[in-house]
Amino acid sequence: MMASSSKSSDSTNSGLKDNSSDPSDEDKPELCPGFRDVDAFVKHGFGAVLSATKASASLPQAGDEFDFYRSFPGFQEFCESQGDKLLHFMSQIMQVHGCRSHLRDRNKLTGLEERFDLVVDSNDVILERVGILLDEADGVNRTQQPVMPAGFQPPKIVVSSWNRKGSGSGSRSEMFRLLHAKNIARPQLKFKEKVDNSNTPFIPKIFIKPNAVKPLPSYFTNKQIRKERPEDLDVPAALADLIHQQRTQEHVEDMFAHPYQYELDHLEIPESLLSKPDVKMYKPMDESNFTFIDTLEDLVALNEKLCKLSEFAVDLEHHSYRSFLGLTSLMQISTREEDFIIDTLELRSELYILNEAFTDPAIVKVFHGADSDIEWLQRDFGLYVVRLFDTHQASRALNLARHSLDHLLTHFCNVGSDKRYQLADWRIRPLPDEMVQYARTDTHYLLYIYDCVRAQLLDFNHGQPGLLQSVWSKSKDISLKKYVKPIYTEESYLEVQRKQKRSFNTQQLTAFRLLFAWRDKLARQEDESTGYVLPTHMMIKISEELPKEPQGIIACCNPVPPLVRQQVNELHLLMQQAREMPLLKAEIAAQKNKGLTPIKKPEVTLFGPHDTSRVSESDLHPFSTDEMPVKQGMLFSDDEHNMDVDVQKTSGLMAEAKITLFEEPRSLKDEDSLPVAQMKARRIIESFENPFRMYLPTSDVHINKNAKFDPSSKIFEISKRWKLQSIEQQQKELEAKKKAKEETKQLAKKVADERNKAKQSYQESLQNVATVRQQAAGSAKGSAKKRERVPSEVGESTPKPSKKPMTSAEKPQKTEPPPEESFKPFDYSQSDLKVFAGNKSKDNTQFDPNRQAHDFKKKKFGRGQKSNLGAGGRSMSYMAGKSDRGFRHNWPKR
Ligand code: AMP
Ligand code: MN
Ligand code: ZN
Repeated sequence: MMASSSKSSDSTNSGLKDNSSDPSDEDKPELCPGFRDVDAFVKHGFGAVLSATKASASLPQAGDEFDFYRSFPGFQEFCESQGDKLLHFMSQIMQVHGCRSHLRDRNKLTGLEERFDLVVDSNDVILERVGILLDEADGVNRTQQPVMPAGFQPPKIVVSSWNRKGSGSGSRSEMFRLLHAKNIARPQLKFKEKVDNSNTPFIPKIFIKPNAVKPLPSYFTNKQIRKERPEDLDVPAALADLIHQQRTQEHVEDMFAHPYQYELDHLEIPESLLSKPDVKMYKPMDESNFTFIDTLEDLVALNEKLCKLSEFAVDLEHHSYRSFLGLTSLMQISTREEDFIIDTLELRSELYILNEAFTDPAIVKVFHGADSDIEWLQRDFGLYVVRLFDTHQASRALNLARHSLDHLLTHFCNVGSDKRYQLADWRIRPLPDEMVQYARTDTHYLLYIYDCVRAQLLDFNHGQPGLLQSVWSKSKDISLKKYVKPIYTEESYLEVQRKQKRSFNTQQLTAFRLLFAWRDKLARQEDESTGYVLPTHMMIKISEELPKEPQGIIACCNPVPPLVRQQVNELHLLMQQAREMPLLKAEIAAQKNKGLTPIKKPEVTLFGPHDTSRVSESDLHPFSTDEMPVKQGMLFSDDEHNMDVDVQKTSGLMAEAKITLFEEPRSLKDEDSLPVAQMKARRIIESFENPFRMYLPTSDVHINKNAKFDPSSKIFEISKRWKLQSIEQQQKELEAKKKAKEETKQLAKKVADERNKAKQSYQESLQNVATVRQQAAGSAKGSAKKRERVPSEVGESTPKPSKKPMTSAEKPQKTEPPPEESFKPFDYSQSDLKVFAGNKSKDNTQFDPNRQAHDFKKKKFGRGQKSNLGAGGRSMSYMAGKSDRGFRHNWPKR
């Protein structure tokens, strides 16, 4: 607590060397006396801040320890004099920056709040100045704000430099319009295939494989297998799962492999890509052609064009707030001559045709920071990239100062880019001109940069191709990445909870678990991000407070998420359920003593969100919100402590609480009653972070490895049932296979043979799926239909597999020894085995969200046909407590 009370002073003190451990220190807050250069100064400053932070962290903790020390007058005096000193320093810093600085002579009633306001304001002014200077040094003129996602209402007053800043230029009105571009129709509604939010592993969407060396496994080309979904069987879920499992078992390996693994593994780098390039200057943007593509015809034409090139640049824009898994909203493609932007929301089901160019090893695809793009391409369109060049990897290999696209643009093209739109709501249509410009910039210069970095990589290495080779190879590794869908387990809430660095008692933990499950369920169901349903910090707050009334739940949220408001009664029941949990004895005692939830002191005590150097993202959450209520040490409370002494006298015990203003709100239910200063502090801290952080997926939550081996966990079941292999295993197996193969065949010849075969199979599959041109000729509707489930197909497919379930039903235990705890064996004696005969009614095969209420989640949200091996059926549909966002994107910095 003391630590946090001094945080605000730390941050302002950092520039000033009040910590006179270093002999080179000087008292005067002059520019940089005693320091050779900025680096030396910064280094010293960091050291000072660090030791100050450490020191304050080691002060007696609030609670018993602090109270005890406080009963010694010597301690009080010392605190007071140090507090004065700090106030003095702070005043000086503020004066230097031209801020109001009368920290010391405030009347005692309002003094604390006002001082805090002063500190907050001054920090703001200082940080603003720092921001401007950094931008100037960067050559960036950051006069505008990021664009808010639609539907997101920024808090009305955000005290923060970059939010306050606004130029008088015409951009103001654009901002206004974009900010208020809410009520965007959900693009998901137009998708021809429903999004698959089920808690089942992702299965590649690919169904036709251009440029194949190894043909696409039959699982993907065989419509029948692919389209069978367990929930389409008219039997209880458990049985359906079993049947389905048996039917698909032989395909499991294929289902989870990278469809172009073989091609990528055998990709060689031709001489031409390792030799010195001619650096071709880019065309000025206003002299190049621009095409917005939102029809199949245009897409086909683009594909044809791309197939004739030797390289093109690609980038994606993505939306993650109003969707569970995220939506690729735009694809930018630039050739040497032209820029294209594809409306990937509109052409979502058609984009796969680009695989023809994207997987052609003779065509280089240049991306910047492709890690996420590779995953998004797979997830949304079944697109893969063979022959990727990632300029981010090149920048790293060149050891450039920074590796963002922004930096490359400044460095090579002398072009500034406008970061405002990075977080824009890319679902907006029609796309405003400014956003088109921004999006174009992302790819327009990339081919030129590709030339430049290749030339430099060779120069750097005295003409030797090693460095360039390594970039190709790193890029290839990125293109081998597989999209992994977040899988939710009963344990995942613990991972998130642990990161909060809070100790919850049994009831609070139960509440957290229940909220987590509720949030996950709703997010999948409504196809919203978990951050939209209920941001983690609000979830924490509700769990901590365990509100007795629905109103109390609302009070924990600001702003109140729409789904929380809508389901507040449901949430109220969850809270009741949590409150019914018996508390441990120790917990009861702790509650009595403190009347507060014990809060573990974070190990990392550097002040906050803007110093993330040693703090993991998740560490910041508590700071960003509720932890701000900070208990006061002596620094701001010159008067209050007298009161404490009185209390001591009367009670004969330790002072009860020295805690001042800043603590009270902790126990208050209503945020409205927070002191102004504290509200402000909260907001400013929130604004230090990505303003959307709280709406973004919880980051870095992965499945606990041990969970896989814990038979009671869902993930165990999942991994067992679906033989989810770790990438390592897969690679090992693949390597083993490869070796075996390579031994038995004369490589070159075989490959040629296979290629012919693959071509043939590609041709064959083309006959099933109309060619690109045919599709273009037909309406977009026609092409979608082709991929939709046709009732009669299912009838054909059912008879064959009908035997399998019988055998497997007899001995499921033998084949899979570990007991499946939550898997309820189905009583086959009760079942109508006729279903195996495949006589299904037509209706059965059609998607109908209202059918089979017992399994409605999968029904409703399962993707139309392809994957959704719904696998676990009942056991894999989510249950209480399981859920988590299992992925984190390493956002490539622009
Ligand atoms: P870019 O490659 O920079 O155009 O980014 C592609 C997409 O990644 C954007 O449309 C955003 O959705 C997302 N993105 C990029 N940077 C960030 C960031 N710092 N935080 C959150 N999302 C980001
Ligand atoms: Mn990108
Ligand atoms: Zn981009």
